[in-house]
Formats: sequence, C-alpha cells, structure tokens
Amino acid sequence: MTSTTGATGTTGTACPYCGWPDHAEPFQVVSRHATAAGSTVWTRCGCGSLQVRAVDERGMRVMSRSRPADVPAPGGR
Ligand SMILES: [Zn+2]
Repeated sequence: MTSTTGATGTTGTACPYCGWPDHAEPFQVVSRHATAAGSTVWTRCGCGSLQVRAVDERGMRVMSRSRPADVPAPGGR
C-alpha cells in the first residue's frame, strides 16, 4: 500500500480565535498522555486557547478546543 505522507486530513481547520493552523506546530505543548490508541496531547494556542489533540497512527486531530483564557489583567483596575 502506498500512502502519501502529508496533505492528508481536513483542510481549513484552524483556531477560530487567532487562525493558527491545526496542522502547524503547536504553539505550546502543555502535556502528553499515552492512550490505547496513541496519545492525547494538550496544547495551548498562541491566543491562549487550550486544545486536546488525539494522536494515533493516522495522524493528529483536534478533539476539543477551549476558548482563549479570559484572564483578568493582573492587578486589576
Ligand atoms: Zn488560537
């Protein structure tokens, strides 16, 4: 079986908050957990949105995505 690497998966998946492409390198990997199917990776986007990505032999896909952290400014006003 010949399989082409790359250029697979759905197109147009990107962070709805800042437009960071899901296929790009995660802005920050928060934690990684091994699962039966592969692994689950928690990443944080550049905008602060937390993402749960499932990684298996077929690649990586975003399972869920949180809104950007609505952190009040330190010190408040
Ligand atoms: Zn984002």
